[in-house]
Amino acid sequence: MTKKIKNTNQLERRRFVKNVAAGGLAASLALRLPSAFAQVDKTGGVSMSDTILMNGKFRTLDPKRHSASAVMIKDGVFKAVGSDDEIMKLRTSSTQVIDLKQHTVIPGINDSHTHVIRGGLHYNMELRWEGVPSVADALRMLKEQARRTPAPQWVRVVGGWSEFQFAERRMPTLEEINAASPDTPVFILHLYDRALLNAAALKATGITKDTPDPPGGVLYRDRKGNPSGMLIAEPSALILYSTLAKGPSLPFEDQLNSSRHFQRELNRLGVTSAIDAGGGGQNYPDDYKVIEELHKRGEMTMRIAYNLFAQNKGSEFEDYKHWTTMIKPGDGDAMLRMNGAGENLVWSAADFENFLQPRPHLPDHMDRELERVTRLLVEHRWPFRIHATYDESIAKFLNVFEKVNKDIPFDGLRFIIDHAETIRPDSIDRINALGGGIAIQHRMAFQGEYFVERYGATEAEQTPPITDMLAAGLPVGAGTDATRVASFNPWVGLYWLSTGKTLGGLTLYPEERRLEREKALHLYTKGSAWFSGEQEVKGAIVAGEYADLAVLSADYFSVPDEEIKEIVSVLTIVDGTVVHGNGEFKDLNPPLPPASPDWSPVRTFANHKQASDIALAMAGHQCLEHGHGRQPQSGIVKASRDPFWGPLGCSCFAF
Ligand SMILES: [Zn+2]
Ligand SMILES: [Zn+2]
Repeated sequence: MTKKIKNTNQLERRRFVKNVAAGGLAASLALRLPSAFAQVDKTGGVSMSDTILMNGKFRTLDPKRHSASAVMIKDGVFKAVGSDDEIMKLRTSSTQVIDLKQHTVIPGINDSHTHVIRGGLHYNMELRWEGVPSVADALRMLKEQARRTPAPQWVRVVGGWSEFQFAERRMPTLEEINAASPDTPVFILHLYDRALLNAAALKATGITKDTPDPPGGVLYRDRKGNPSGMLIAEPSALILYSTLAKGPSLPFEDQLNSSRHFQRELNRLGVTSAIDAGGGGQNYPDDYKVIEELHKRGEMTMRIAYNLFAQNKGSEFEDYKHWTTMIKPGDGDAMLRMNGAGENLVWSAADFENFLQPRPHLPDHMDRELERVTRLLVEHRWPFRIHATYDESIAKFLNVFEKVNKDIPFDGLRFIIDHAETIRPDSIDRINALGGGIAIQHRMAFQGEYFVERYGATEAEQTPPITDMLAAGLPVGAGTDATRVASFNPWVGLYWLSTGKTLGGLTLYPEERRLEREKALHLYTKGSAWFSGEQEVKGAIVAGEYADLAVLSADYFSVPDEEIKEIVSVLTIVDGTVVHGNGEFKDLNPPLPPASPDWSPVRTFANHKQASDIALAMAGHQCLEHGHGRQPQSGIVKASRDPFWGPLGCSCFAF
């Protein structure tokens, strides 16, 4: 089985390299590759010269060779890994040499559960509060962005923050949000439990006194019954995400630009690969046109494997059946490939991760629905993943999987349990016996305080029990579950894994349940690679594997704990190509058109690492760029025409 995977991957890699060499993508590659890495010959073909990176501190994650100081890269893969002397001997007249000046180098980070494709469609519209130190700063940013955002667009703060990061240890109030933005609609998503809307957003979404509460959600109202602007998931996130979906989206060209900016932001954080878990509202094939176009143009700067997510309650089986006639796992290439089904297989299996509410009870008909879909997937040899927060849900899912396995053996078919915060040892063993893996994320870093409040500190100590999963020997991958609640910053995840702390500084895990930094990194690289079946070709700096790596701004292995969150990449390489350069490597940074449209928060708040500095610096600054009441550019608005709480009034958009 392993051998087969390896061959498939090698074949795909060869096909990709062959495409490149054949000049089929020559024009786009010439754009994609900085001049140091690409030489366009007279016939228009691209010849990739070999590259040596030397004088670095490589942490290879190769058990046979723990560290190195130089590598040679050719045709998108590591050709040799060794000492400066060993590698420099391989130099020829055409070799490009980059001196890494003793920076620490790691294999590229692979986020094994994220919603990067959907996130890319919206990134340029979102204001991010990651790293912002106070409510006062957050409100200043909001005010500034509201001033520059033309009607009918909104200001959106969609996750990535929690009140525990703020000096005031609270979230902004509705009064403050209304004062910061009296005219421009504002939507702020808080964790998995609520959204804050200003009066303009209530108006824009048509939420009035007469609007009913949706199933599993509450519209907070004043004494007269008027909605206050606070939307609460009790526990269904439908109310939150279906309201967000009412905002205008970007036109296609801006979505392309937005996806590029999002990928480059991830490259800046050292991310070179992700596995996309689909998401509510992310329909196949329509909502994949942007990523497919980027791929066609050679403008993707990270690798993505994507899972197809059932969108419509009641027709999950039919949707998967239809998709099996359209596409199959492995389709695509090493940059963009299909990875199977999930994270939603059937809506009745959705257990909401909102720890401010009691654990939801899954309906009895879930088993039947899940069994039908699982049978179909196993028959078609589709790997699958399933969202599962609580052990109670996981145990039920395993009953179904074990039953199907008796009739149609999984026989090595990859399946993934996602999240697994409260999984018990028995379920870990059952997953192991069936050949599955667990993808964990740093969701507890954002809402650990609420978990402790409801279930107690002792229960939180093994939430999720990563050390037990590793001890059992099953595949474990790390990720973020970005973009709607948790930050897409993997360094926040590595901080959480290695220190056991939330963003608010609460220690959740005792020493023995934290991971050593290298082990934590392993989950984010080699560990995650299993989840797209690429563990033989990705995740370590070793000859023959993909040349994906990140040169770090600081030595992850020795900096003080709190500084882990501040680490970025100064040089990121994907497939042997520089996709990001900063600091000493700024000259290698490939060009990127400015974020569009021109009011994009991404232009002002270039990245969240600088957001707090910008917030502090701009107090009192007046934006003259945009007036309100400005007419929308044609084609900019694509309003949702769904009935009020979404097409079915069910739990769609819950992820
Ligand atoms: Zn999920
Ligand atoms: Zn997810």
